Amino acid sequence: MSDFVVVGGGVGGLVVARRLALGGASVTLVEASDHLGGTVARHHLGGLDLDAGAESFAVRGGTVAALLTQIGLGADIVAPNPEGAWLQPSTGHAVPLPKLSLLGIPGDPRAPDVVAVIGEDGALLAEGDALLPADYASDATSLGDLVERRMGTAVLDNLVAPIVRGVHSIDPKELDIDRVAPGLREAMRRTGSLASAVLELRGSARAGSSVAGIRGGLFRLVDALVGELDRLAVDIRLNTRVIAVEAGAVSIVQGRIAGRVVVAAPGLLGTPIEDGHRAVLATLVLDAPELAAAPRGTGVLVAAGASGVTARAATHSTAKWPWLAEAAAGREVVRLSYGAELPNHAELARADAAALFGVPLDPHSVIDFDLVQWRRPTRQAHTPTGISLVGETASGTGLAAVIGQAEAEAHSLLRDFPQ
Ligand SMILES: Cc1cc2nc3c(=O)[nH]c(=O)nc-3n(C[C@H](O)[C@H](O)[C@H](O)COP(=O)(O)OP(=O)(O)OC[C@H]3O[C@@H](n4cnc5c(N)ncnc54)[C@H](O)[C@@H]3O)c2cc1C
Repeated sequence: MSDFVVVGGGVGGLVVARRLALGGASVTLVEASDHLGGTVARHHLGGLDLDAGAESFAVRGGTVAALLTQIGLGADIVAPNPEGAWLQPSTGHAVPLPKLSLLGIPGDPRAPDVVAVIGEDGALLAEGDALLPADYASDATSLGDLVERRMGTAVLDNLVAPIVRGVHSIDPKELDIDRVAPGLREAMRRTGSLASAVLELRGSARAGSSVAGIRGGLFRLVDALVGELDRLAVDIRLNTRVIAVEAGAVSIVQGRIAGRVVVAAPGLLGTPIEDGHRAVLATLVLDAPELAAAPRGTGVLVAAGASGVTARAATHSTAKWPWLAEAAAGREVVRLSYGAELPNHAELARADAAALFGVPLDPHSVIDFDLVQWRRPTRQAHTPTGISLVGETASGTGLAAVIGQAEAEAHSLLRDFPQ
């Protein structure tokens, strides 16, 4: 018997297992698949090791950087190309994303780069935010709800939704404000409007990008965490699916594993994952000199209803990450994300990339292609007594949130742990 049984070997499970083991506890980690890391994973195409899932992390709070430093990756934290991404509105040409914004919420609804996307009428409606009482819509539960009530649907549909769907693979109406933008609600009450809250948060943010990556790929985070678990003698059981949990033990096909249970497996306790709740990533390695000038900065986020395009975002990975451009040696890596299942061939992704980047891409320019389908968890409503919950269902989406919550939960468990 171990002191703790951690169910699920994604980043949430790996981080909580490491912290518990560092605290002197014996830990068994049970993972259903044949590998660790969950949605932080690698695939190999065109001779390159690339991220197959998450590829960057939010720098806010320094949570991820602190962990990376502890596990020996601090020197490999890299900032993306500051050029930034573009937006493909539902009609018209792609435009650079408004500079002064937070998750697409404009700090100045009248800024020319905002009006270019939402139009004069949309800007007029969004300006109404400044006339509303400071606490109007401060009871909103989701980011989408808050933005719609204060600034209107043009800002929600054309600015916030494409960014949130492209970055978090989720609808803004499902995104918890306090998790994705801590302090925004409070700043709004203090400063009097949503736009001024955005300005305050942007002003207080450290100079530089709000996200960072790891030289060589984000999957190196998993390699380093697994190395730590090996060093700390954590008992790792792959290919072992937990079928039920109760306080003090988990059930697997072969029997039971006893220990204080920490669930880090999205979906195990929640309601079944809906069919439409998925993220599909299509990655292309291209021989395409047309892309060398990075015609759309680091990529394009797509508003719903944009004609002729199925993808909801396209990342120009070799433009975004200088280390990858170096490794790719003249080839280009483009990653497109979709909200629904796709046929497993490169044609749609190539056509979407050509449309979004505004360059011709010949079918022969495709050197390699891979399609990865991810299922997204539903939120956990209820955790049975005596069981701890970590990972995305407890913390919300994104590595900064997952790692911060897993560390905090481990510290809290260790406080009650007899030394
Ligand atoms: C396509 C995509 C791109 C993303 N990009 C980013 C990004 O760039 N930046 C960012 O910060 N976040 C990103 N995210 C979100 C981020 O990856 C997740 O929030 C985070 O990795 C979730 O970690 P987790 O440990 O909670 O869950 P998971 O990574 O889902 O891991 C859960 C693990 O539990 C295992 N498991 C499930 N059921 C059982 C069971 N019954 N028994 C045993 N094991 C089980 C699974 O096999 C899996 O290994 C992205 C997500 C996706 C899908």
